[in-house]
Amino acid sequence: MAASPTHDLIVIGAGPAGATAARVAAGLGARVALIDKAAFPREKLCGGALTTRASRYLAASHGPLPTGLLHPCKAVRFTDGPRLLAEERGALPLTLTMRRALDAHLWRGALASGAEDWTGRRIAALDPASGIVRLEDGAWLQGAAVIGADGVHSMVARALLGDAAPLRRVGFALEAEVDGPPGEVMELDLTAVPYGYGWDFPKAHGRTLGLGGVQALSGDMMGRFRAWLAARGVDPAGVRIKGHHLPFGQMRTRIGEGRVVLAGDAAGLVDPVTGEGIAWAVLSGQRAAQAALAALAQGQPDRTHALYGAAMRDVLGEVRRAGRIARLAHHPFWQPRVLAAIAGSGHLRRRYLQLLAGEMDHADIGLSRMVRLMLRLTLGRGAGGLG
Ligand SMILES: Cc1cc2nc3c(=O)[nH]c(=O)nc-3n(C[C@H](O)[C@H](O)[C@H](O)COP(=O)(O)OP(=O)(O)OC[C@H]3O[C@@H](n4cnc5c(N)ncnc54)[C@H](O)[C@@H]3O)c2cc1C
Repeated sequence: MAASPTHDLIVIGAGPAGATAARVAAGLGARVALIDKAAFPREKLCGGALTTRASRYLAASHGPLPTGLLHPCKAVRFTDGPRLLAEERGALPLTLTMRRALDAHLWRGALASGAEDWTGRRIAALDPASGIVRLEDGAWLQGAAVIGADGVHSMVARALLGDAAPLRRVGFALEAEVDGPPGEVMELDLTAVPYGYGWDFPKAHGRTLGLGGVQALSGDMMGRFRAWLAARGVDPAGVRIKGHHLPFGQMRTRIGEGRVVLAGDAAGLVDPVTGEGIAWAVLSGQRAAQAALAALAQGQPDRTHALYGAAMRDVLGEVRRAGRIARLAHHPFWQPRVLAAIAGSGHLRRRYLQLLAGEMDHADIGLSRMVRLMLRLTLGRGAGGLG
């Protein structure tokens, strides 16, 4: 095998996390290989909602997105099944995109920055200790550092930590695209599924409808989704329904080891309150690349995980706090009170949207605000506690 690595950095997975890592590292002059089993453009099941936070991180690493990739949202409706709880209009901190187009744009950007294109090629094995990656076609590469950005079923996580996400406990979502005229209104059905929600997102060519929750707690998700679609006037037999896991509430306690680190869904970085994963994928990809290059500059690629772990402490704390809030908001005692507060308090709705958009962090809620909020919810006095 090679006396010295073929690449400074090997990035496995070219979704938002991997494409960002590759772009950042190649832009800083590193020799980078970007591997994905799929050839791009490729499909990725996703609602495609981009929060202010996601847009900010995308712009920081990739520059402004072409406007053709974005579709505006002019109103958000909060519902409890067929019951309208409330509607917010005006300047909303959310835009919608199609992942096939967004991810292809990010992948092209990584290549334009100098990353080598190894997409459309499957990996046979990874040796975390040496950074050697063998592909199914017999080729092999060796990275001084390796980033596993290969999604919720990460083979890098399996090779490194001995497991992928525990599938019964991670989130699971079903989605269907419905063709039609461009939509303008986003709907969040807060009771469509226990410990999750339903979404009806407007797109340039129609709508994306979905249902996501924790698989073990949601029973027959497919049956629920079909009934939910029918209740919205969509014939479930007339659309293609697809499912995919998403790691909300299943953040890893370790996100790497030595020269190999995990980013995005592979690290379990999906917000358990909102189901948002693109923002953390982009940020973690950027920080993983920076950590790898800093470790290489010190001549100690094995320090990549130590540097990355330290840089990610704030994000890991945020995902952990979001997990606690999600468990509370979906608890059978609290959920009806939360719904009543959303229906009755414009203040809470705007705060919830700020949280959804990443204009407010879960950390901003703090313990005393949380206690005030719970007190008000218990007494049925709305939700001034978040303000
Ligand atoms: C139904 C659904 C709706 C969602 N809606 C939203 C939303 O509206 N907004 C939001 O912010 N987030 C949403 N998410 C979450 C979001 O899609 C993910 O968090 C995000 O895609 C994570 O990016 P990533 O780069 O980590 O992984 P991915 O986008 O999953 O990319 C991983 C890449 O790794 C590749 N790969 C996998 N295995 C291998 C292998 N062995 N070798 C090589 N390559 C491999 C895959 O082909 C893929 O290209 C949703 C998720 C689901 C399932």
